[in-house]
Amino acid sequence: MCGKEASFRFRSYNIRLCKDCVEEFIKRRVRKAIREFKLFRRDEKLLVAVSGGKDSISLWDIMISLGYNVDAVHIDLGISAFSDRSWEKIRDFSQKRGIKLPIRLSIRDYFNGKGMEDIIKEDRRPACSLCGFIKRYIMNRVALEGGYVVLTGHNLDDETATLLGNLISWKDGYLNRQSPRLEGRDGFAPRAKPLILCSKEEIEAYIEVRKLPYLDERCPLSKNAQTTFYKRLIRELDRNSPGIKLKFFLGFLERRGRFRAKQQELRPCFQCGMPTSTGICNFCRLKKKLDLNFDS
Ligand code: AMP
Ligand code: ZN
Repeated sequence: MCGKEASFRFRSYNIRLCKDCVEEFIKRRVRKAIREFKLFRRDEKLLVAVSGGKDSISLWDIMISLGYNVDAVHIDLGISAFSDRSWEKIRDFSQKRGIKLPIRLSIRDYFNGKGMEDIIKEDRRPACSLCGFIKRYIMNRVALEGGYVVLTGHNLDDETATLLGNLISWKDGYLNRQSPRLEGRDGFAPRAKPLILCSKEEIEAYIEVRKLPYLDERCPLSKNAQTTFYKRLIRELDRNSPGIKLKFFLGFLERRGRFRAKQQELRPCFQCGMPTSTGICNFCRLKKKLDLNFDS
């Protein structure tokens, strides 16, 4: 872009970039996603969901660099040393950037002192889906209370792997909802994914160039082999035909309206008031189950 010597190569775009231009390139991709997918309006309050990993730390950094006034939230999952190290990296980043620490919530406060390590022993669901729905619930409550749009660090590799999984099993409902921005409705806060046009490789280059602290560790409870496998497949495809990953994803977005979802009738959970299609929401059901075990 600038004519200086390049040190990074992005094969999907067939370009070589120097450090400064990597930064500029990624910021442009994020600006483009915000504009083209109408991710949020200037008058909306933004809340970055920060795990401490490279995607959400990059997202937070980019949003600040682009001049947005964002707040941030971190959910302490109660996975002993892993959760402590996540928080340390978040603290390092906040210090480096000279910004205030995120809101820190602990799932232990919702489950009588239990963290994810305890919860997965008492529920048969896979750790990642259990953890995912708990995080979404807590995030949603915070966002509704503060009137926020939640921004997550999902990148192009995450989205294409999810897309492939949804297509292979023809999950029309999920395909219909897989979007760069999910509108808020009936007790759901809006959610948006500003890194959706950036691949894993591009985010890695960005975080290296910016020398940002982040936790370079997989969650010790995660066994999400299927998603990892799809990611590998898609990366392999992209190596053979550079750019096909992005084309696959953009092609899907053009066709997304073809997939129909049954609109479920939602009503407030009788325990917590959050939306559910049954009388009591999944979150409160889990709490009940855990407390029963707790007492016995
Ligand atoms: P994951 O589902 O773990 O791949 O994470 C997807 C996105 O969810 C991340 O990029 C973050 O924006 C958000 N996220 C994941 N874990 C946490 C956490 N413990 N606290 C806050 N946000 C999180
Ligand atoms: Zn509930």
